[in-house]
Parts: sequence; C-alpha cells; structure tokens
Amino acid sequence: MIMDIKKLEQFLQENNLPKFRLGQIQKAIFAEGVSTFSEITTLSKDLREKMEKEMRMLSFDVEKVLTAKDGQSIKALLKLHSGDLIETVLISPKPEIWSACISCQVGCAMGCRFCATGKMGFKRDLTAEEITDQILFWRQYLKKNKIEGSFSNIVYMGMGEPFNNWKQVSESIKILTDEKLFGFGSRSLSVSTSGIADGIEKMANEFPQVNLAISLHFASDEKRDRFMPVNKKDNLESLKNALRKYFTITNRKVFLEYIMLDGINDTALDAKLLSDFVYSVGNTHLLHMNLIRYNMTSEDLKPSSKTRTQLFKEELEKHRVNATIRKSLGEEIEAACGQLAGKE
Ligand code: SAH
Ligand code: SF4
Repeated sequence: MIMDIKKLEQFLQENNLPKFRLGQIQKAIFAEGVSTFSEITTLSKDLREKMEKEMRMLSFDVEKVLTAKDGQSIKALLKLHSGDLIETVLISPKPEIWSACISCQVGCAMGCRFCATGKMGFKRDLTAEEITDQILFWRQYLKKNKIEGSFSNIVYMGMGEPFNNWKQVSESIKILTDEKLFGFGSRSLSVSTSGIADGIEKMANEFPQVNLAISLHFASDEKRDRFMPVNKKDNLESLKNALRKYFTITNRKVFLEYIMLDGINDTALDAKLLSDFVYSVGNTHLLHMNLIRYNMTSEDLKPSSKTRTQLFKEELEKHRVNATIRKSLGEEIEAACGQLAGKE
C-alpha cells in the first residue's frame, strides 16, 4: 500500500510528523528494499510499530514462490487483497543481472489460443500500485534472500494486455521511472502487446523511450485470425500502419515476437510470409524478430523442434531478416504467461 504516496502523506499528517520523513521512508523502501517498516531505523521505534500496525507494504500476499533448479528463474504467485491471483517472474539472463516480468491484469480478454492467461478470460484490471508492487516485491525478495545482482529490465509480459489497461499501465510506467521512487530508465522497460494498433500509437506519443514488443506470431491474416482474435480488429495491414507511425515518432527498434508452433507457423512458406511482412513495413533495420519456444498449454499445439526452429531462422536469413532464437528460461517452473495462476 505504500506505493500510494498520498496515503503515506496522510499518515504523516495525521501523526503530526514532518514532511522530510516521507523522503526517508521512500528512500528505505525504494532504494534500500526494506521488507518491513521496522527495518526503517531512521524512524523512531514507536512510529515504526504504528506503521507496521496501520499500513501495508505490498498490495498482495505471497502465495507461492518457485525457483528453477538452475536458479535462473523464480516465479511468484501473488494473492491480491481482492482474492485474485496474479503471477510475476524474475529471470536472470546473465549472472547477477535480473529481469522482472510483470502482470497488468487478472486474466486477459484477448483470448489467444496458445496462452494460458487467455484461456482464463478477463477478471479485472490491476491498479498502478498492484503493478509496481510486483517490482517492490522482487527488490525485497533479492535483499531478503541475499541474492546478488541488480535489476536490468522490466517487461510487461505477464498476465494481461497492457493497452487494455493503459490508464494504470501508463501510471505504473511513471512510477517506475520516477527518480524519487524506483528510478528505472525508460529504456529498461518494455511493453508487449498482442497488437492493438491505437495502443501502439499512444505509447509512441507518451513514452517514446520505452521499448515496444509486438506479439506477431503469424504472418498471414488467415492464421492470425484463427489463433489471435485481436487480428479481426487489427489485422496485419493495421499493424503495418501502426508500426510505420511508431517509427516516424520514435525512430526506435521494435521487437516482433514469434512463438514457434510445430507445423503451424514454422514452415519455409511461413518464413517467406514473415519476411514479406517485415519488408512491407519498411525500416527493416528497426525490426527485430525474436523466435520463442512455445510452452505447452494445450494438447493440440506443440513447440517446434530445435532443428525446425534453426531452419526457420536460416530461412528468414535467406530473405535478409535477422532473428534471435530466445532461450526458454523457466519452463520447468511454468514461467510462460499465466500458467501458474491459471491452475489454481
Ligand atoms: N498480452 C501481451 C503481453 C503478455 S503475453 C502480449 O500478448 O504481448 C507475453 C508474451 O508471451 C506474448 O508474446 C505471448 O504471445 C507469449 N505467450 C503466450 N502464451 C505463450 C506460451 N504458451 N508459450 C510461449 N509464449 C507465450
Ligand atoms: Fe492476453 Fe497476451 Fe495471453 Fe494474448 S498472449 S491472451 S494478449 S496475455
């Protein structure tokens, strides 16, 4: 609850405390990562006890934490005060570097067929506080468990579609990049969308320095329609136009996400269609393809094999499109989108 600075200010006022206390408390929470008010030793013992009784540091309780055997990814299942469950994942792409993947909604209304969150349907939007508290939680977790390393990136790739909850998501970006609060650089944040065209434009205007990822996954409207209902509203043509506008405004690189589905979107023809799409957008040096392993969420879809994925990448390269095969971190703890909360 501490994220709500107004509540904190009110508390200080009600208790006749000077304003500078606010700065001290913020520093302890955001910069130092304390988990309890009693750890803020710059405050008197009485005040700490009172705060402990009357205020809550986080807007959820921690239901479960799962760590992968290699220690490279940690997933937390969080129970919001409303009783809803969300999840967040911490991944270490390199030693002592951590990236957090956060949720912005309980469930999701977009209904992508390969996605566990999509299958849950939409429950509710998260507040900006519930979004940023996920980062606060991980900061506290690292400190409490004496895990070395620092935060490098934050990605909005957990549960939910950021542009369906833009009011709270944009507020959360402001909080995360506020020097007095979390102090992350805009370039260390990434927003991933299933491809809502007007959202892409809004983001370009409001946060041109925040990274954008688009879950493309299919390069033909016929297939995209079948697996991603969003395509009926914003098809490939509409995405192409949104990307062009995005480049005009930001001139920044965009990541196109592509989950590799065996026999569905991983053939030589799919690679050709994908490169046609990339070239139709133009500014190809600003488009980067990420080929992602599919985490099985339904029996009728299977991940492409390593060989097929490699062949697909080579096929793309033949058409002069560069792609990176993303290592699937955290599969054993079910780190893909919505898989843990969906089970409860
Ligand atoms: N709603 C946003 C962000 C959250 S999903 C979006 O769709 O972009 C984050 C990413 O996980 C998206 O690229 C999504 O397509 C991908 N994803 C969903 N289900 C997956 C699965 N089972 N395996 C691998 N990636 C998956
Ligand atoms: Fe929603 Fe993203 Fe999952 Fe699609 S992939 S259902 S947009 S969370």
